[in-house]
Amino acid sequence: MPVYEFICQKCGKPSEFRATVAEYSKGLAAQCPHCGSTKLIRSFSSVGLVTSAGGRGPVCGPGAGPGCCGR
Ligand SMILES: [Zn+2]
Repeated sequence: MPVYEFICQKCGKPSEFRATVAEYSKGLAAQCPHCGSTKLIRSFSSVGLVTSAGGRGPVCGPGAGPGCCGR
């Protein structure tokens, strides 16, 4: 069962919720355990997203041709 990380938009504290993919796709009723707010946004800090740190990698500007960014 995957763990979904959320950041509370009210108090800014992270929290984790375990849910199946099916449960998550139906809409996970995440609630902040710290302040009780339900305004939680998904945190992708642990997914390992490739960031643009260093400014390297392909940049899709206005003049980018087909194939840029996998299109
Ligand atoms: Zn909170």
